[in-house]
Amino acid sequence: MPDTILRAMSQPHGSPPGTRAGLVVAVDGPASSGKSTVGSGVAEALGYRFVDTGLLYRGVTWLAQQLRTPLDVGESVAELAPRVSLRAGPEGRYESVLVDGMDVTDEVLSPGVDRRVSEVARHPEVRSALLGRQRELAEGGDIVVAGRDIGTVVLPHADVKVFLDASPEERARRRAEQRGFAPDSPEATAILGDLRRRDEIDRTRATAPLRPAPDALRVATDGHGLEETIDLVADAVRAERDRRAGASVEPEPAVEPEPAVEPEPAVEPEPAVEPEPTAKTKRAPVARTSPRRESTAEPRLSDRITPFMQLSDLVGRTIMNATTRVHIEGLERPLDIEGPLLVVSNHASNADGPLLVCWLTPALGRRMHLLGKQEAMDRPLLGWALAQNGVIGVRRGAADLEAFRAAKRVLDEGHVLGAFPEGTRSPDGCLQPAKDGAAILALRTGAPILPVGLSGTHRFWPRGKRLFRPGGQVRMRVGTPFTLPRTSGGDRRRAQAEATRLIMTKIAELLPPSQRGVYAAEVDRVRGE
Ligand code: C5P
Repeated sequence: MPDTILRAMSQPHGSPPGTRAGLVVAVDGPASSGKSTVGSGVAEALGYRFVDTGLLYRGVTWLAQQLRTPLDVGESVAELAPRVSLRAGPEGRYESVLVDGMDVTDEVLSPGVDRRVSEVARHPEVRSALLGRQRELAEGGDIVVAGRDIGTVVLPHADVKVFLDASPEERARRRAEQRGFAPDSPEATAILGDLRRRDEIDRTRATAPLRPAPDALRVATDGHGLEETIDLVADAVRAERDRRAGASVEPEPAVEPEPAVEPEPAVEPEPAVEPEPTAKTKRAPVARTSPRRESTAEPRLSDRITPFMQLSDLVGRTIMNATTRVHIEGLERPLDIEGPLLVVSNHASNADGPLLVCWLTPALGRRMHLLGKQEAMDRPLLGWALAQNGVIGVRRGAADLEAFRAAKRVLDEGHVLGAFPEGTRSPDGCLQPAKDGAAILALRTGAPILPVGLSGTHRFWPRGKRLFRPGGQVRMRVGTPFTLPRTSGGDRRRAQAEATRLIMTKIAELLPPSQRGVYAAEVDRVRGE
């Protein structure tokens, strides 16, 4: 690649953080993953501008085809770039493609351009010619920019980065449906082949290949309603905006992207999807549909205790009873709780998950869903056993929002969720400051909370040790279910922090004073009142 091009592409891009007024949101992903639909929906929700940078590449391709410029000669095609521009509509959506001032939007969205555009976009000369234009558009912020390399090359300083994905079959199926072809028609097969070829070129090209930025929020859009994905991304942008504004009051009830559950007793949700952006969706106002709940890709949630779960719980209890003294308190009476339930506990050991699950499952009479690391779920035997026990895997790189969404779904659908509000295991067994994830879940779903205190597990199986140490004793104290007081209006962040404090104080009360850590004073205060 010529030096000048390399230099141009590695120049500081747009404005680094702190030098512009509004936020910049990068939305990348393969063809038909929903970038335009989600991107423009988010822009609409936030009052931002929206630009789909694929239109620029399409404009250049169309012009080259008209002029019979050989598409494999990068320099010649790149020379056409200055003749292509985008025009914004009244709402700030750059939805019209102009060539020499003439509107060619319909033409650039044709299947003829579809088929060849990736061949044009892979030339470094073309990418370089369009780079400055894209960065200029983003100046000033308050914009959602969709493409393939926005978060990695064009705007690596973007404030929020999202990478949307969906299986090729799902994307092709949607595209075929939108074009009125039956799923098993030759046209649908051709669309799938075309899409795969385009993805392959975009992913493997030497310059600015399609790949997620390491700091992107990755959202699989299979099985997810448009509205839900838009909400998810808009919430992430609002959270970032709030963070920058310095924790000011936020009027909208936005989801806080905090991990509801700790990363290691593990988790993963679902790939999701939404209608793909075609010629029509790129330009038409975003249709608002209600979120689709069921997805084949989402783990099936249920209350049912299977024979395998009974056996696992029995084996778990037998092993623990044989290796340490287990004291259980609070399960003398039946735990007759129907509907959603959020079980919260302190966390200091790998033994905590099994202890909770093996004793609480029979006591509750229904299964408890824990979130777990997808890495663990991918392990051959372990993953299968965890899934059989109701554990939901969550990809770490997928960001906390996915964990939050998976957790919320468990409660929304009326099941039992187990969560460790501290997020990670305490190194010394003492309570550490908790994150707000569990509190936000409870506030948003209204689910009752069952506090549990686990003591002695940090000595039985200390953090950092591969195996437990037989001997000693562990104790599980199950408290009384409670619900958070309803809040309306006011400072959302303060309400969340208060809810977290309440939850953690209830857990701390179930622990010996030596393990109450940062919540010890709060217990004293409550007891003194
Ligand atoms: O998103 P859309 O399908 O309209 O993009 C058309 C093509 O433009 C893509 O297949 C890709 O080859 C190219 N493109 C790109 N970088 C972008 C946007 C689009 O390479 N930022």
